[in-house]
Amino acid sequence: MFIMQALQKVHAAPGLEVREVPPPARPGSGEVLIRVDATGICGTDVHIAEWTPGYEFMAPAMPVTLGHEFAGTIVEVGSDVGAVEKGSLVTIRPSVVCGRCPACKAGDTDACTNRRGIGVMRNGGFAPLVCVPAGNCVPVPAGLDPAIAALTEPMTVSAEAVDTGEVRDGDRVLVLGPGTIGQGIALFAKAAGASEVVVAGHNDGPRLETLNRLGFENTVDTFGRTLADALAPYLEAGKFDVVIEATGVPAVVQPSLEVLRKRGVLVICGIHPKPASVNLTQLVREHQQIRGSYRAPIATWSRVVAYLAQHAEQVREMISHRVPLSEALAGFELARNKSASKVVVLPQA
Ligand SMILES: [Zn+2]
Ligand SMILES: [Zn+2]
Repeated sequence: MFIMQALQKVHAAPGLEVREVPPPARPGSGEVLIRVDATGICGTDVHIAEWTPGYEFMAPAMPVTLGHEFAGTIVEVGSDVGAVEKGSLVTIRPSVVCGRCPACKAGDTDACTNRRGIGVMRNGGFAPLVCVPAGNCVPVPAGLDPAIAALTEPMTVSAEAVDTGEVRDGDRVLVLGPGTIGQGIALFAKAAGASEVVVAGHNDGPRLETLNRLGFENTVDTFGRTLADALAPYLEAGKFDVVIEATGVPAVVQPSLEVLRKRGVLVICGIHPKPASVNLTQLVREHQQIRGSYRAPIATWSRVVAYLAQHAEQVREMISHRVPLSEALAGFELARNKSASKVVVLPQA
């Protein structure tokens, strides 16, 4: 019998394992079988690997193959799959909606309350083959590098953060956190017409260099100094119109309000392990707003795919490492110690 390798979360404890597992069963009704060509390693995967608090809900799904940022080719289709076709390159929306809750029944699947994430609660893309609902496939132009197509999921998070901040022509935008999400935020803020985009990191040399290669020369590292000190040259022109946070570090929230203009908007899209402390009197007097931003609506996906296809040579810079599945654990180590930008696993390599 054919056996494949898969990178799995096996126990509710730190660690991941590359294991030999049976391939998925033939696709059932409404499902398709994907030959996975490229799967990105994301901060969420690293948290699941390290077993940081907040993922206990995964335990009943284990052992489960991780990987929620992926692209591949449809190699088999079940019945009732609609418009999707065998042979097409697709990227996968990882959030599988239930179809039964009041929101789903009303046709508003963006508001589904019973989601099961591919690569979290059901098998994902760190394997050569995976079965997914046909409705979660988003078409990608033929010939686009699958590793670039695999950037779609994190880039939709970036696009949603920029939309939430209502970045418009001429805005001066500060991005906190130079990882993939922050890189995407910088790109979409620029596309939205920002006149200046400054990106701040913390002991983030390689990721800030990636931003420089993406065309953003205004980068600062706050290591050993305060945010306001690091940004001093930029603050001479005034405080920022929009600040978008993608660090997940609660301690950055108050300092970021201090570099935000009156009536400015702070968007939070990092996942924070602890509550943040905010000077609300100052927030009130400055008429500032704090807005949360998370998963993008379905409509954002095709817009992001089009952006990636149009800027393929530029966004290729976001991918710092490509590793075969057999070296996925080494890839996780690169992602964990911040020496990489995006590490992409190639399950067919
Ligand atoms: Zn992710
Ligand atoms: Zn639902």
